Amino acid sequence: RAKELGGGRVEVFAPHMHADVVRRLELGSDLQRALAEERFAVEFQPVVELATSRVTGVEALVRWYRDGEAVPPEEFIAPAEESGLMIPLGDWVLRQACAEVARWRGDSWDVGLSVNFTARQIAAPSFVESVAAALADTGLPPHALTLEVREEVLVEDAGQNVARLSALRELGVRLAIDDFGTGYASLAYLGQLPVDVIKLDPSFVAGLGADETLTLLTRTIVRLGRDLGLTVVAEGIERPEQLRLLREMGCPRGQGFLVARPMAAGRAESLVRASLQAQRPPGEVELPL
Ligand code: C2E
Ligand code: MG
Ligand code: MG
Ligand code: MG
Repeated sequence: RAKELGGGRVEVFAPHMHADVVRRLELGSDLQRALAEERFAVEFQPVVELATSRVTGVEALVRWYRDGEAVPPEEFIAPAEESGLMIPLGDWVLRQACAEVARWRGDSWDVGLSVNFTARQIAAPSFVESVAAALADTGLPPHALTLEVREEVLVEDAGQNVARLSALRELGVRLAIDDFGTGYASLAYLGQLPVDVIKLDPSFVAGLGADETLTLLTRTIVRLGRDLGLTVVAEGIERPEQLRLLREMGCPRGQGFLVARPMAAGRAESLVRASLQAQRPPGEVELPL
């Protein structure tokens, strides 16, 4: 039928394409409105020192409640990125998160903050300045902030990105490779990149104890991180067996639903307080939750 219509072939696909375009436009304008109306929220997921279970910091994760329903970041980050909205949204997240953690630190808690950044956010001309301004305006010390970027940010068009991230690093800001092991950054790159932290992708943790290769790779990355002076954070810890193996390997830090889920600022604050005030005998391990 499409063939008979000749040039009209497009029409066969048109309704579907149209729906897709409309959905994207709607998402775009909803996002824009949500940003104007501050309909976003920031949640915080604790990161712990695995040997002691003490909270070392939190990762800020953006949340969007669209008509009361949570939209997963995977669904709106890419459209926000395409429409340029990720830059003001990312700046909003950064400022909210810095202000929150600066307040906790005001009670002299030594807690760090990690914030995710996309390629476009780093490419924005205002990037370095806006991070520096967020720190200055909220009073969060630069060394308390870690920027999380995915591997491809440091590899594709790396010159400019690396220069910008290095400029912030000179201020004391730390840099983490997120989802490490899934992208382009080979182990050989690690020594050359201006990074402080490796966040091991959850796919490695998922295979711990079940898949020999993934277990061996995890052990290797943990050791390499230690040798290179990098802090390794294992992501996506869900089962006690995974936690046990990571501790046995000497993986310094971890994050995952077993330890703590992402949570609203108030709950994160209480959890951080409880963790930092707990005086546990050395060697005794207990999860904060
Ligand atoms: P990410 O930076 O790797 O963040 C970790 C994601 O894994 C979060 O998903 C977190 O909720 C989830 N997670 C943590 N522990 C577990 C676990 O044990 N099991 C499972 N299944 N999942 C776990 P979330 O919040 O949906 O975020 C997804 C991604 O969206 C993030 O991955 C990050 O790349 C991006 N993202 C989230 N917030 C922001 C933001 O404020 N700015 C930017 N640029 N990206 C963000
Ligand atoms: Mg992250
Ligand atoms: Mg990650
Ligand atoms: Mg991820």
